[in-house]
Amino acid sequence: MGSRLPPMPKISEIVKLYKLSATKKLSQNFLLDMNVCHKFVQCISVTRGTHICEIGPGPGGITRALLESDALKVHVIEKDPRFIPPLEILKAASGGRLDVHLGDAQKYDIASIFPSNYARPWLRNIPSMNIVGNLPFNVSLGLLLQWLKQISNRSGPWQHGRIPLTLTFQHEVAERLLANRNSPHRCRMTIMCQHLCKVRYRYRIPGKVFVPPPKVHTAVVYLEPLRIPLINQPFSVVEKVTATIFHYRQKYIKRGAQDLFPPSMEGLVDELFKLSDVDPTHRSFSLTMEEWGRLCDTYADFCNEYPGLLDYNYRDPSTRHLPEKTVPFSLNVADLK
Ligand code: SAM
Repeated sequence: MGSRLPPMPKISEIVKLYKLSATKKLSQNFLLDMNVCHKFVQCISVTRGTHICEIGPGPGGITRALLESDALKVHVIEKDPRFIPPLEILKAASGGRLDVHLGDAQKYDIASIFPSNYARPWLRNIPSMNIVGNLPFNVSLGLLLQWLKQISNRSGPWQHGRIPLTLTFQHEVAERLLANRNSPHRCRMTIMCQHLCKVRYRYRIPGKVFVPPPKVHTAVVYLEPLRIPLINQPFSVVEKVTATIFHYRQKYIKRGAQDLFPPSMEGLVDELFKLSDVDPTHRSFSLTMEEWGRLCDTYADFCNEYPGLLDYNYRDPSTRHLPEKTVPFSLNVADLK
């Protein structure tokens, strides 16, 4: 069905009118072709009551396409103040369906944008809310990591339920997020994403449709938080185990695992693999999600047994001296409710 906006200048005309040249320093590339913007919006499940938060609307191509969908309300968060005047024009034409927020999405309280009466319990269906964005590649990856942590804790916007994300990434980064076992693209971010979310490749946007065109292609990726994460451990445990073991991609996983323990506890490396029932001569990219889960479970048990182990960082000598083994304490798994 969709909604109609009153006749407005084309996005390319808005860009000219407001002299909105793309800033290289901010890695800005605009989507000015409304067909491409509509295709992006078709990737999002929008129903008549949907609230959408778009990060980095720029001159507002995708925003316009969102307003022409069934979305009830569109909220945009833009960091660059140059884009606020054209977005305000769009707001005036939107019949109260667009809210414009100036700010940095990395710091913005996105949860407060969504109405709490739209919240759904985590184990129920996804709420009528979406977070979307065509962001600079470096920003989208950093934001994704920050958001995965919030998904894991069910905090930030995810206190409202399993809000899906539709984001653009550099095509090679998308391949990493989606990589299967034994793929050369499999990395720490693969495990971080796939243990918390259903990850789907939507489509490829050729570089040439952006203004100015970047040298690489773009991929639109959909991430939907899982009801039950595949690894039932706090974010900090999964992040540490995966980052440390993936650090030595071409070596046996035993090499990376050595860096999870201070030299005084090296005996625990063999224990880790024995208790997890994982072959230490595998390589990181060949482990199944179940094997990662067992390694994280065992490492979390060690962290309960040896306070300070989770904070141990092999690159930081000040973290090497762990207190004597004491009464086990509980990791904050309650956050995973
Ligand atoms: N989405 C628009 C489009 O498709 O034409 C603009 C794309 S441009 C690649 C990225 C936009 O995100 C820019 O407008 C930039 O100012 C904005 N941006 C970058 N980092 C941001 C952040 N941390 N918070 C909010 N907006 C940000």
